[in-house]
Amino acid sequence: MPRGDGRLSQDLDPGRPGPQDACGVFGVWAPGEEVAKLTYFGLYALQHRGQEAAGIAVSDGSGVVVYKDLGLVAQVFDEPTLASLRGYLAIGHARYSTTGGSTWENAQPTIQASDSGTTIALAHNGNLVNTSELAATVDSKDGSTSDTALVTALLAGYPDLSVEEAAMRVLPTLRGAFSFVFMDENTLYAARDANGVRPLVLGRLERGWVVASETAALDIVGASVVREVEPGELIAIDDDGLRSQRFAVPDPKGCLFEYVYLARPDTTIGGRNVYATRVEIGRRLAREHPVEADLVIPVPESGTPAAIGYAEESGIPYGSGLVKNAYVGRTFIQPSQTIRQLGIRLKLNPLRQIVRGKRIVVVDDSIVRGNTQRAIIRMLRESGALEVHIRISSPPVKWPCFYGIDFATRAELVANGLDTDGIRRSIGADSLGYVSLAGLISATEQPKTRLCRACFDGDYPIGLPSDNLIGKHVLEGVGRRVDADNERPEPGHTPGDSDSTAGARQYASPGGADALLRP
Ligand code: SF4
Repeated sequence: MPRGDGRLSQDLDPGRPGPQDACGVFGVWAPGEEVAKLTYFGLYALQHRGQEAAGIAVSDGSGVVVYKDLGLVAQVFDEPTLASLRGYLAIGHARYSTTGGSTWENAQPTIQASDSGTTIALAHNGNLVNTSELAATVDSKDGSTSDTALVTALLAGYPDLSVEEAAMRVLPTLRGAFSFVFMDENTLYAARDANGVRPLVLGRLERGWVVASETAALDIVGASVVREVEPGELIAIDDDGLRSQRFAVPDPKGCLFEYVYLARPDTTIGGRNVYATRVEIGRRLAREHPVEADLVIPVPESGTPAAIGYAEESGIPYGSGLVKNAYVGRTFIQPSQTIRQLGIRLKLNPLRQIVRGKRIVVVDDSIVRGNTQRAIIRMLRESGALEVHIRISSPPVKWPCFYGIDFATRAELVANGLDTDGIRRSIGADSLGYVSLAGLISATEQPKTRLCRACFDGDYPIGLPSDNLIGKHVLEGVGRRVDADNERPEPGHTPGDSDSTAGARQYASPGGADALLRP
């Protein structure tokens, strides 16, 4: 059975990225295990959630060390680096920037020493909506512009309290979406916002515990799934075992888009497997938008399960009509104008012999700007397809997300200004059908009231600030003091252009980016 790889099909055109997830987080407490390597493989399994930066914090009980850099997990870490990260608890992060730009300082985990002498490292999936309000209460000098650094500073701001007690003070003041993993020298913590917008799960190892954004990451490190971290719950794990506290009344509003597109197909959310959900969405799509055709093809990979469902329900044969060049992933190579014009052709190649002379149904997961679908339709027609019918396994995306997914701006969303027939004409399809919101919700087997659907229906479950000071660059220039003497890596610094000094900066200590640690 074909299986998606979790890559974002909207990201097929490198010049026009589609929706980006807010990050993947992972944490492990396991004395006697190689926790840095477990975290590396956990992050590897979560790479689809963020490809801009990666980092791991580790503690052996005497101190916390962070290693992070811009790049993919496999670009940032190598064997010697992982071997240098020794300890029995660790957290990790694969980042896409939702608040703060793509700079070294904004890579995670963040790290900060408290006045009490404890060091806190923190990794975040989600996006806060009261960031500017929180920023006014913190004087942070580390140069980072992320809401995550703010929360770390807030947690470190209670010298007379334990980190656990500080978390019980700070977490109720945060508004927005957050799935946190954080740690001090001895304890691993996990916390999820009261709405549980972004996923976070707890797993068990033979000799320890794991928390991760998705169950697939637990599978890959050999952990069994225990349960989800509950909305409004703080978990602490140390020598005394696992403790759970409530910091907010739970009001679940899990992200509907995780089922459509963001999560891996082999992940389970709310007891419902994502792959099975996507196949069911495809079946519903076939019932809601039938068409006479010869072949159903997916836009690989994330359209694959829904295309299988569409084919099963409609009785139209399923096949591959587009081959993905799996090794043209995210790259730091800047394309020249000539290469940029190739756009989607860098990543997808039509199978001419298969599509020629046929009426084709193309199943994709979403339409953001419409550029990807327009390019695919043109390629298929040039390859001899007689008709191209587009079927989309989510309703039209009309509203921006403030809870950790970076869509195009509202003005760029093709569904914002056009009705379905207008979009069909804009992308050049013979027909176009979106699954209904009711059909999508029903396929998830979750009650509508327990889901965030705001990007589809504009009904935001978490109130937004009236000053509208939200968005990924909210902290740049707000409540920040930039220390000109504080030398930092250049924006865009990558592992490939590291000189010896820049390489040393990849290690971070609680003193900030210019207090360097060597393994
Ligand atoms: S607005 Fe859309 S993408 Fe954002 S959390 Fe809600 S359902 Fe998910």
